[in-house]
Amino acid sequence: MIWSKEESLSHDEMSALQSKRLQDTVSKVYAKVPFYKRKFDELGIKPQDIKTIADVAKLPFTKKQDLRDNYPFGLFAVDNSELIRIHSSSGTTGKPTVVGYTRSDIDIWAEGVARVLTMGGITKDDTVHVAYGYGLFTGGLGLHDGATKVGATVVPSSGGFTSRQAMLLKDFGATALACTPTFAMHILETALREGYEPKKDFKLKAGFFGAEPTSRGLKDELAKGLNISYHDIYGLSEIIGPGVAGNCKHSKDLHIFEDHFYPEIIDPQTLEVLPYGEKGELVITSLTKQALPIIRYRTGDVTILNPQICECGRTQVRMKNIMGRVDDMLIVNGVNVFPSQVEHVLSNIDEITLNYQIIVDKKGYLDKLEVMVEVTEDMPMDSIGALEMVQKKIQSELLSNLYIHANVKLVEPRTIERSQGKAVRVVDKRSLK
Ligand SMILES: [Zn+2]
Repeated sequence: MIWSKEESLSHDEMSALQSKRLQDTVSKVYAKVPFYKRKFDELGIKPQDIKTIADVAKLPFTKKQDLRDNYPFGLFAVDNSELIRIHSSSGTTGKPTVVGYTRSDIDIWAEGVARVLTMGGITKDDTVHVAYGYGLFTGGLGLHDGATKVGATVVPSSGGFTSRQAMLLKDFGATALACTPTFAMHILETALREGYEPKKDFKLKAGFFGAEPTSRGLKDELAKGLNISYHDIYGLSEIIGPGVAGNCKHSKDLHIFEDHFYPEIIDPQTLEVLPYGEKGELVITSLTKQALPIIRYRTGDVTILNPQICECGRTQVRMKNIMGRVDDMLIVNGVNVFPSQVEHVLSNIDEITLNYQIIVDKKGYLDKLEVMVEVTEDMPMDSIGALEMVQKKIQSELLSNLYIHANVKLVEPRTIERSQGKAVRVVDKRSLK
């Protein structure tokens, strides 16, 4: 089943719809959002210059920093009386990015999620156990509203309390589970340890997972362990939340709901638009959002677009699973870590140099982060007490500044391999195939 007719429009029908919606969006942001008026004026663009969807390439980009600079509501295009919800991203430092929704935005968001749930065969006869966190994070309420739109019974379990999650899955007989993949694995492992037989005791048939990069191995293990079809659900709060894209049963690539969210792939260095099939940064323009319309948002996610019509009958373009982050951002156990932030912490510690390497690996299903760093020439390597003190100091600084637990390894000067005189800063051993 396909949730809405827009998912299988012909190319021409889709282009016409997108063109009309882009014109409306551009007129709106030009009139209502001073940030966009200024940017358009700088480029000499007037709303009437935008006639078809192809003209999107003339428009300026929006970056995460633009949302921060206009914190909290500076990019909103509606009055407070029209807003019905606020969400925000989970930044580790500084101000979060804030997003707002009108009633129509919440409907569109719920529709995106409903489309993905429908791809997994979910109908009003199903029960959806939502174990994403509820709150400012868009996961919990996003899946909640989408499942409600489908007419399914929602179990708003939220995160945490793993033993109870397993108990409720059995007792309430949920047929779908929605949460982060690592939390799903945690529930599965806990259930097994506590003597459940998930394939028999649970009635699950589909799972909807997102919000973190996930290896194919973990996906397969979850699909097998819980006896479900595995569905990726992609989204980001700046665009709307989860429900921007999802995969059907015929494809591992995700259909993007391009009647609402127009995707482009750009070269992150030259900012040129790349043709379908080429790898680059995903850029999305919202076409129907009211409270926070967003023009050419640079997601920082690296992927490839595939326009081939899918066996499922949907015509909407598909994207490959996110292959990485443009800015080398590391996601360690769900926490964003920038190498530059680690470097900043290290730079405040006297006994070490800035020759360091961040090594990320997996231990079980958890990420393990190690910071290997060279000490200064006058650090006594034979004094275990002194080394331990420095190690503890670095660990506690990383924890209090970046909220990350790291194993710190101190090594002698000139131990860390350099390639062409420059140290390799990040070694990510996690396989993301
Ligand atoms: Zn499909």
